[in-house]
Amino acid sequence: MRLDEALREQEEGLLNCVHCGFCLPACPTYNRLGDEADSPRGRLHLMRAVVEGRLAPSSHAFQLHLDRCLGCRACEPVCPSGVEYGMLLERARQVARSARPPDRLTRLLLTLVSRPGVRRLGLGGGRLLRFLGVSRLGSALPGGAPWGRLRLALAMLESTRPPPLAEIAGSGPAEGRPGEDEARPGARGEVGVLLGCVQEGLLGRVNRATERVLEANGYTVRRVGGQGCCGALHAHAGALSGAREMARRNIAAFEASGVKWVVANAAGCGAAMVDAGHLFRGDPEWEERAGRFGDKVRDVSQLLGEGDGCRRGAPLSVEVAYDPPCHLLHAQGVEAPPLRMLEAIPELRVLPVPGGAECCGGAGIYGLTQEELGGRIGADKVAAVRETGAPWLATGNPGCMMQIGAGLRLAGAAVGVCHPVELLDESYRRAGYYDGSA
Ligand code: SF4
Ligand code: SF4
Repeated sequence: MRLDEALREQEEGLLNCVHCGFCLPACPTYNRLGDEADSPRGRLHLMRAVVEGRLAPSSHAFQLHLDRCLGCRACEPVCPSGVEYGMLLERARQVARSARPPDRLTRLLLTLVSRPGVRRLGLGGGRLLRFLGVSRLGSALPGGAPWGRLRLALAMLESTRPPPLAEIAGSGPAEGRPGEDEARPGARGEVGVLLGCVQEGLLGRVNRATERVLEANGYTVRRVGGQGCCGALHAHAGALSGAREMARRNIAAFEASGVKWVVANAAGCGAAMVDAGHLFRGDPEWEERAGRFGDKVRDVSQLLGEGDGCRRGAPLSVEVAYDPPCHLLHAQGVEAPPLRMLEAIPELRVLPVPGGAECCGGAGIYGLTQEELGGRIGADKVAAVRETGAPWLATGNPGCMMQIGAGLRLAGAAVGVCHPVELLDESYRRAGYYDGSA
């Protein structure tokens, strides 16, 4: 569906923007820049002007203000008209791309995730640089041009190094071993984990932790072959045909596996898959099929933090700041499950990050392509995390882990960054759930 059709459909569905401005205070770019054109309402106005032929898609205003949007979707839950801003943004960016190709860095990063051979090479190269310690050099580089982008990229890579979870204080396996009521639950069905590209390539340990905690809670984890990148980065950049191609491959792979749930542990990938039906809107062959697929997608925290919840593990005696990823909180409306999942860890004290609902500035590749504004937004997030005083930060999206992790590292803050499921995994390891005796 094109931008003009999507805007018309919003109007017909009574999802039209009524210019109330409720979304403005939720928008990180409007809050920083104070320019109406950098607000959700302003960007919708620009989209309409392009559709009505009053503004050229190649115009500086259209390109600039769309580029500056994080795609965080914080404007959606607060909108009384239910405007589907994220879907409109993707179509608007498609129009913008057709008028002016994206910059070289965006093209390079999209090629990296979409071509399996290039992806393997790129992520393998990243792991090698991390192994050799080259990623540590980021902190030694000066900020600003010409080194700022390389400095951030190296710090992001360094932040994917496994954190020292085993050093967290807590009871040993003997004291932590749970009682009868914590026996392994009965069979909960077969699930397949979306491995992702960056997640599997640089943070494969999060996927393994996800598989272990699901198995420990009665799910049978099937390795789903034929899956690939979720296409979220392409969709956010307006490269919709590439995003659809990647979505088709994943839909077919998970359909063939017959699993009950498709599990995501990366909020950005999860949101893209939940919204797969929107991506194919108007496509007679794929819309319904993609919608059925999207209905099966669950964040790992939903399977472990909703309904019967999950088994209690051994204590981890530590304070952890929790920052909700935008694509979990705003795009999927998943707020309580990660916190409920963490309640299964005795002695863990979870502290909310002040202003946690605001984007960290990572937003896919935004931190690298919009270095200045992304850096300002990221610096505020880092300050908010430090304000909690917690020695650990948990957040459920690789982009957020890397953006905030890099910011903390460059600010000299000794804060470990992990995925929430890794804390549960460490707690289960200490409880003996993986040694075959519990
Ligand atoms: S809150 Fe919704 S209706 Fe109001 S200005 Fe923003 S997008 Fe338009
Ligand atoms: S997606 Fe985020 S940055 Fe973009 S308009 Fe909405 S709130 Fe603002």
